[in-house]
Amino acid sequence: MDRYNFPDACGHFGQYGGVYVAETLMTALDELKNEYARVKADPAFWQEFHYELKHYVGRPSPIYHAKRWSDALGGAQIYFKREDLNHTGAHKINNAIGQALLARRMGKQRVIAETGAGQHGVASATVAARYGMECVVYMGAEDIKRQSPNVFRMKLLGATVVPVESGSQTLKDALNEAMRDWVTNIDSTFYILGTAAGPHPYPMLVRDFVSVIGTESKVQMPELIGRQPDVIVACVGGGSNAIGLFHPYIDVPGVRIVGVEAGGHGLSSGRHAAPISSGAAVGVLHGAKSYLMQDRNGQIVETHSVSAGLDYPGVGPEHSHLKDIGRAEYVAINDDEALQAFHHCCRLEGIIPALESSHALAWAGKVAPEMTKDQVILVNLSGRGDKDINTVAGLTGISL
Ligand SMILES: *Cc1c(COP(=O)(O)O)cnc(C)c1O
Repeated sequence: MDRYNFPDACGHFGQYGGVYVAETLMTALDELKNEYARVKADPAFWQEFHYELKHYVGRPSPIYHAKRWSDALGGAQIYFKREDLNHTGAHKINNAIGQALLARRMGKQRVIAETGAGQHGVASATVAARYGMECVVYMGAEDIKRQSPNVFRMKLLGATVVPVESGSQTLKDALNEAMRDWVTNIDSTFYILGTAAGPHPYPMLVRDFVSVIGTESKVQMPELIGRQPDVIVACVGGGSNAIGLFHPYIDVPGVRIVGVEAGGHGLSSGRHAAPISSGAAVGVLHGAKSYLMQDRNGQIVETHSVSAGLDYPGVGPEHSHLKDIGRAEYVAINDDEALQAFHHCCRLEGIIPALESSHALAWAGKVAPEMTKDQVILVNLSGRGDKDINTVAGLTGISL
């Protein structure tokens, strides 16, 4: 495991990660790092965390054999880790609860969050209501228009949603604005970051909270099939649901690990959100070094994906490192392929998956026919697709 013991004390995953922020944020990040070091060694914290996951989120989430779809494909058996069944409908609540408990221990009464599709905003608003904290969510003005049901959910839960009008008015701009708020209100405020990215210690602590996904799977798969799966696969936006499944499996030999990025209109079109699989250069965004979609001047390029949750130009630093050391592979699935897998999952399994998760499904559906019937693929079904019905309706012409 030594080889896989990252990050180091400064938050480096190989050459990636670190703390590339303005001096004004260093105090807050140091405070968070020190508190998390105490928490990591405190069994009472983890006991409460797991109590909340069980009684509030509904964990453990089951693993389901997608038998009809596997039979139709005629190859490997496909299993789903059902994060879509969590309270609020995705894996994001696991991380939001962990960070809210941290905030409470640190005496912070106000939490802020950034959100793209609105799933992390909803998870943050949910835990703020649950623990009695004030909640402000930064969301790009463009995303507010695209994701109105989630905006309404946040408001019902008592959060203030602040439209961000700068830049492309999407997720990366919301993240900038949340960081700006944090600098200004450091004493009262905890920043609940929504993915396994950002400056140290976020990629580490988010990973630790979402690793419950892989830790459960490692127990559940042997119960179901008598062994671990041959392949595990998850979609990669910032990388939290993927690292949550992957991390506990890193030191398990023989398990192939595959991250699926958003191929958008195809890698050659330039209209995608696939920094690793498109061979992007290394750069710094939102406080950490990682693979990053940028132009020749290092300016962030605009991304595209049919799924708002994958529409991000960077990726968490642990994924960049796993790619470099060859422990995980990264591939891209384009919009059309994801949409097709979405429909197969609806019709053959009676499960409406999130468009993000549909990217992982599509990759599994592509490789399963080339594998034998006794081989097993475990797909992380990161969320449910209720939030995506308007997008799908717009793309397929099926009327609502
Ligand atoms: C937000 C989201 C993602 C992408 O975020 P990661 O941090 O890469 O996991 C994937 N699936 C669902 C359902 C989401 O809500």
